[in-house]
Amino acid sequence: MRHLYIVGACGSIGCQTLDIARSNKDEFKVIGLSVGSNLELARKLIEEFKPEIVCFRKKEHIISLSYNPIITYGDEGLIEVAKYSKYDDEVLVNALVGISGLMPTVEAIKAKKTICLANKETLVVAGDIIKDLLIENDVKLVPIDSEHSAILQCLAGESKADVKRLIITASGGSFRNKSRSELVGVTKKEALAHPNWSMGSKITIDSATMMNKGFEVIEAHFLFDLPYDKIDTILHPQSIVHSLVEFNDGTIKAELGCADMHTPIQYALRYPSHAYSQGESLNLFNLNLEFKELSKDRFPCLDYAYKAAAKGGIYYAVLNASNEAAVHLFLNDHIDFLTIEKIICDEINNNDYENIEYNLENVVSISKMIINKILLRYGVEE
Ligand code: NDP
Ligand code: MG
Repeated sequence: MRHLYIVGACGSIGCQTLDIARSNKDEFKVIGLSVGSNLELARKLIEEFKPEIVCFRKKEHIISLSYNPIITYGDEGLIEVAKYSKYDDEVLVNALVGISGLMPTVEAIKAKKTICLANKETLVVAGDIIKDLLIENDVKLVPIDSEHSAILQCLAGESKADVKRLIITASGGSFRNKSRSELVGVTKKEALAHPNWSMGSKITIDSATMMNKGFEVIEAHFLFDLPYDKIDTILHPQSIVHSLVEFNDGTIKAELGCADMHTPIQYALRYPSHAYSQGESLNLFNLNLEFKELSKDRFPCLDYAYKAAAKGGIYYAVLNASNEAAVHLFLNDHIDFLTIEKIICDEINNNDYENIEYNLENVVSISKMIINKILLRYGVEE
């Protein structure tokens, strides 16, 4: 029996993880949940799975329940869920959004839980720190992101020295058929209409700007320990090939499947087993797979990610924080779509952060400072 702690349980990844737990009760038992501000859904999930520890998003969200779990709330509550430990074989599924996922990952590693990671921002802001913690605590981290799940599978049994390059596929997001001039005046509703995947709002905007692919390049760098010049991206509008690995002898391995996150989630939960399926299987007829160049001129956020990576250290946090603030402003109607890019570009080119030491404390404090600074510029309190 694997004992699950799911932070961000009410979101897109969280609910799909619970679908798998629901259908495989002899395999997975839910011990801890953090729920979001949709209290109807929160109550439903808590009463169904009856976890021993529950974290509400805010104190005022706490609701009365039919039983008496440990109740926590806020950022400290997330840490309590991550630290709670009573069983063998405990797994933290991190389905939070943004930097809020960082400290729960850190504490769960220290509590010796296996990490199934959807919250890519954890690796973007603190990849090196997380890698050291994993080694120090002898803990495994398995990616849920479909591209990284694909690469993990392509690399199974292979030697890293034989890898020529990783090729991360991108659907192109909501505006993949628009030129840059056509992006002027696009609406939030249009940006949130992803052509292939149904996901939470932040990652859907990150896909439209292509920052998501920039984050995934960084995520791949830390997960697979390969230099950035061996990590490429490619446009693949069908989202059937979830990513590829090219080897030195010219062989290319790819992982194919439906655009259904249940598949990489269940692979992470059972890694390295492909034992059962929770999703539909791919119909190989009439696939019509296309691959095109992913242009950094058309999608400058991809370029900003490589630039932040070249600067390294605290600039990973600068990249993430400026994006987090900009996406929040766009989703709350304070800025237009193209201003997201501008806000990130200004911060990446800001040399004021150059002498700040790269450590966990600074990653957290600088991120908070940048987010607050950008939000305040538009009169928004965090
Ligand atoms: P959602 O927005 O659907 O869900 C996130 C959940 O976490 C919500 O319930 C939200 O609560 C809660 N949450 C967010 N911030 C906090 C916080 N500070 N404290 C407590 N709870 C919080 O996100 P997704 O499931 O789409 O994404 C989760 C992560 O997985 C992201 O990092 C994303 O990039 C990654 N990912 C997602 C994929 C997908 O298909 N959705 C695919 C690959 C990666 P509330 O409702 O109150 O906001
Ligand atoms: Mg992805």
